[in-house]
Amino acid sequence: MPTILKKKYGQNFLIDNNITNKIANLIPSENLKTLEIGPGNGKLTDTIITKKPSSLTLVEIDKDLNECLLGKYLNVSNINIINADILKINLNEKYQLVISNLPYNISSQILVKLSTLNFRPDILILMFQKEFAKRLLDKNLNSINSLVRCFYDINLNFNVSKNCFRPIPKVESSVLTFKKLKKKLITKKELNEFILFKRKLFSHKRKSLKNILKKYDFNNNIDLNTRVENLNLEDLIKLFRATKSEIYQQN
Ligand code: SAH
Repeated sequence: MPTILKKKYGQNFLIDNNITNKIANLIPSENLKTLEIGPGNGKLTDTIITKKPSSLTLVEIDKDLNECLLGKYLNVSNINIINADILKINLNEKYQLVISNLPYNISSQILVKLSTLNFRPDILILMFQKEFAKRLLDKNLNSINSLVRCFYDINLNFNVSKNCFRPIPKVESSVLTFKKLKKKLITKKELNEFILFKRKLFSHKRKSLKNILKKYDFNNNIDLNTRVENLNLEDLIKLFRATKSEIYQQN
């Protein structure tokens, strides 16, 4: 355990071996080029190593923890330890697997970053605050799941009691697995505009589509009397593409 806990970094360390083993057992095979975000004191890292990744990169923001990790894994050859903020570094290598007990305050930002990478990982195994996990899994669309589902299939693996951490957090947790879609639903060129579009739609999620998009004159077969949250992803994307072609026609 580190001597000084830094609350701003969302530090809640796993203490339960059963849980770290269960998480590592979700790793589908050996030999994966792996990235772990926020390894902390290396509790989960130790079990990841038993799954024999081809290489393991650790990105930890806390300088003191980084020092501990450098000492702990001094003699392990395929580990690469980086003291950095995951939100600020360039991830321009392709990782097959990303695994993390995420700092909950930046879960959403990390997930958006990973989902929209040029070299998107094949599999993400991530632990979230349970409420956030529920939003990702919700069958109704929302601002976050509508983006991530353009790139990944999301599955709940198991929930984790708050007693499995120290310090004990206020909330329960869930472990989710994300499998890369064979074909992503949004192109790289569309991405930024799609993000703006869905943001606009979900900031008025109780309004009908007709109301939010009244300046457009669509001639497609989506029922504009539905609420945004009741759309399915396919229709959301269709609508996005239709608004774009409207804009082009106006110009
Ligand atoms: N994986 C460990 C620790 C989880 S707590 C375990 O399961 O026990 C979250 C970890 O993420 C902490 O070590 C914290 O310092 C680190 N962290 C927080 N923000 C980060 C960021 N922006 N980039 C990288 N690591 C971060």
